[in-house]
Amino acid sequence: MALIVLVALEARLRFFEDIGADFLFPAPAARTAEKVPGSGRSLEDIAAEIASCRKCPLASGRTRAVPGEGRPEADLMFVGEGPGHDEDVQGRPFVGRAGQLLTRIIAAMGFDRSDVFIANIVKCRPPDNRPPQKDEADACLPYLLEQIAAVGPKVIVTLGKTATDVFVPSRQGMTERRGRFETWRGIAVMPTFHPSYLVRNEGNKELKRMVWEDMKQVLAALAKT
Ligand code: SF4
Repeated sequence: MALIVLVALEARLRFFEDIGADFLFPAPAARTAEKVPGSGRSLEDIAAEIASCRKCPLASGRTRAVPGEGRPEADLMFVGEGPGHDEDVQGRPFVGRAGQLLTRIIAAMGFDRSDVFIANIVKCRPPDNRPPQKDEADACLPYLLEQIAAVGPKVIVTLGKTATDVFVPSRQGMTERRGRFETWRGIAVMPTFHPSYLVRNEGNKELKRMVWEDMKQVLAALAKT
């Protein structure tokens, strides 16, 4: 058992070294989140509707819908673009290679995945992992808005341009937009690179360092709330 713990700790420290983390934050204490107005439905009810939803063409290509998962009153929410192959098979968000990197980033922040809420703009896998089309994102967005209302996060981290544009539309690319807090309906939004972009540029430590700088800002903001 002690060996397993040591191996896990070593892996985590290697990740800190890889992303250039210079110090660790303790995880902020859990608080009761302020709720934003919503339908009042529970996360389970929302997920049940998503599982059988056929509101857009993505329904026909999915194996399983991926509603999202995490702490029902999480202060921190991550929003990505849409499920990929592994997520489509498992029905869970961010479980493929990019998801494993996101999990390590969350761990580096001092959290477990179960401490945060993880969701996507669209809940069903777009073919060939293409970005969701506008009509697909528009059809699916009410589910995410309901989830945000139910969870009541203090900070939303948007992963990549598709997710960021839903909250704070801009023609700028992610390099210009990452690392600067925006506000959406009173909630702090931190745009950062999508983990799949980091995976595609695996040797680029500068990208990982930038994401870590963004996450340090997120932790500092959470600590103030
Ligand atoms: S992507 Fe969203 S709107 Fe489209 S079928 Fe899936 S759950 Fe419904």
